[in-house]
Order: sequence, then C-alpha cells, then structure tokens
Amino acid sequence: MNGSNRKAGPVAGLTNIKNPIDAAIAVMEYSPHVFLIGKGAESFSISQGLDTVPQSYFYTERLYQEHLDELKAKAEKFGTVGAVAIDLQGNIAAGTSTGGITNKEFGRVGDVPIIGAGTYAENGVGGLSATGHGEYFIRNVATYDIASQVKYGHKTLDQAGYETVMKKLKNQGGAGGVIGLDHKGNVVIHCNTAAMPRGYINSDGELVVKIDID
Ligand code: ASP
Repeated sequence: MNGSNRKAGPVAGLTNIKNPIDAAIAVMEYSPHVFLIGKGAESFSISQGLDTVPQSYFYTERLYQEHLDELKAKAEKFGTVGAVAIDLQGNIAAGTSTGGITNKEFGRVGDVPIIGAGTYAENGVGGLSATGHGEYFIRNVATYDIASQVKYGHKTLDQAGYETVMKKLKNQGGAGGVIGLDHKGNVVIHCNTAAMPRGYINSDGELVVKIDID
C-alpha cells in the first residue's frame, strides 16, 4: 500500500507467481482494480511479465514436516513477512506477504491482503504490517483500527498499536503483532506472542534485529 495516495493492489490465492509481492505492486500500478485473486490474479501477473514457477518451488522439507507436526498438534503457526518504509518527504509504504496460517481450509483468505486488516499505510498517520491469527485482524480491521486512533483519537501510533494488539486482540485471544512507522519514522512494534522476528534500519545506519519480546 502506498500511503501517499492510498493505492493498493492486494492479491490472494496465487500458486505459481514467483514473488507475490510483485504481483501486488503490478495490480496497484497497472490495474484499474484493487484486489485480484486466483487464476485472474495469476493471468494478470503473467501479462505484466512476472516470473512463474512450478508449485514445487515453494516446497521445503522443513516446512512440510512442521505442517505435519502441527496437524497432529492442531497448532497454528505464522509465517508472514512484512515491511514498512518512509522516505524523506514522509511518504509511507507498507507491504505484507504470506503463505497464510498453517493448516487452513482451502480457499481461506487471511488478513494480509485485506487493506486495513493486515496492511495499511497513510501519509501523516503511519504505516503498518501485521502478522498473526488473521481472522482476528480482519474482524478488528486491526491496522486501520490503529491508524484511526491516531487520526481521530490523537494517540501516537505506539499508543494505538498497544491498545489494539496488547489489549483488544489479546483479550479476544487474537495472537499476533504489528510492525509500523509513524509519520515521523519512529519505529512501532507490538506483539502479544512470546516472539516475533523483526528488525529495522534508520537513516543513521542503526540496524536492530530481535526475536524475543523484551
Ligand atoms: N496473518 C497470516 C494469516 O492469517 C498468518 C501469518 O501472519 O503468518 O494468514
């Protein structure tokens, strides 16, 4: 999502596009629509020259074994990658990419491609990318919930993120977290699980990488 004009191009249900985040950018930049899914999203991506791969490209033995273990344990596991960036002019962008929660129903769409649920960016407010149990992020319109507290409630992005992730979602049993940048580029991270791999770099070159929640 581009926070300067609120354009976005989510895609879902892709099976053969090598880099789905590029498909999202293609939909955002070159399609008159906001959201494409399945075969339509794939044929549009191919028409835009994106690389395709056989589904076996996405197979890893480790993840397959984890999937089998979690099927037995009926566990949920998250594996989203999100990024938020701001430039010197205050233009904010947020992007999120995922294979989705493990052991989901075929056809299930999570929060990641739903603008305002797993991903949101708006100049002057902030940019956010979420990971976690997507159903809760959708039902709570979580990233927009955070942004709207900044816009209309005059909270900081940090306060608003805390409110939504550490109180609202946590009280409902909605495991997960968000990364974000406020309109000045301050880093905001909230997570109600034990760990969330994350990192940031600023214009001074300060690089921070962490896993556990302190
Ligand atoms: N939020 C993603 C989903 O619900 C899962 C994740 O964060 O890995 O599909």
